[in-house]
Amino acid sequence: MNKFLLLILLAASSLLFSQEVSKKRVIEVLSRLASDEMKGREIGTPENDSAAIYIAKKFAENNLSFCVADSYLVPFEYKGKVVYNVCGIKKGESEKIIAFSAHFDHIGTSDKTEDKVFNGADDNASGVTAVIGLADYFKTLKTDFSLMYIAFNGEEKGMKGSKAIVEIPNLQEQHQNMTALFNFEMIATVSQFGPNALYMTGDEFSNLDELFNEQAANNLKLYPDPYKKQKLFYRSDNVSFVKKKIIAHSLSTVDMTKAKHYHQLNDDLEIVDFDNVTEIINNFGKTIEKFTPKNFSPKYTDQVNFN
Ligand SMILES: [Zn+2]
Repeated sequence: MNKFLLLILLAASSLLFSQEVSKKRVIEVLSRLASDEMKGREIGTPENDSAAIYIAKKFAENNLSFCVADSYLVPFEYKGKVVYNVCGIKKGESEKIIAFSAHFDHIGTSDKTEDKVFNGADDNASGVTAVIGLADYFKTLKTDFSLMYIAFNGEEKGMKGSKAIVEIPNLQEQHQNMTALFNFEMIATVSQFGPNALYMTGDEFSNLDELFNEQAANNLKLYPDPYKKQKLFYRSDNVSFVKKKIIAHSLSTVDMTKAKHYHQLNDDLEIVDFDNVTEIINNFGKTIEKFTPKNFSPKYTDQVNFN
């Protein structure tokens, strides 16, 4: 084949397969999850089930395979009720897995005020939107890594969903093959480091951020956690995977010293910077696209506490 023709074909194929996530899509998904109809997505409510089903539908649109049995909905028990995590996977060349996760539950409704719904746009409709956005991004791309997408339930009630899913017998092989898990937790606002940036909890515990930043696309950057005293690494769903010695960190943009919306009624769409969320999702996809089991193999330092 002559070189010119090859170049045209390469250009055409990248046009066909690039799946940049649009701001419109980000608004659609985030607004739906944070809508009043979802009534704050509290675990054990019908609206929490609706949120799980909505996420499962998005996974289906992206042709993901089921992680367990014949459904994206992975049941566990909470206070005598069946509730669901949501999990989908896209096979890559390798069995090695990179996982993207976020909790989808929030704290429900208030009966004391006029605005009754805790919409949880930042906490954590934003994180789930990143997980769905990445599934969109990789829909038709071939990757070396297999990619796993998980929406956890019950984080707000003590990380119930992530604790349940790490113990599922049929997922142990996948857990063993997990090279890293990126857990998105409140990414709706611009970070104290500016746009196109996230901080990574427990950055001192592994070289994940260094490896990521070396290949990061379009100047996306993971910064060290500036709120170390709050021990966020041990307070979010990533820790359920840390206990299995899987490299798992949470990524966030929220300013823990200044933000006034954490678990408040004003955690609503008005505080979301949709341009920044869209840019982060696409640059995250572009970065992960470069990773292979050879060039991306993060390790823990000896400072981490696995218990
Ligand atoms: Zn949260």
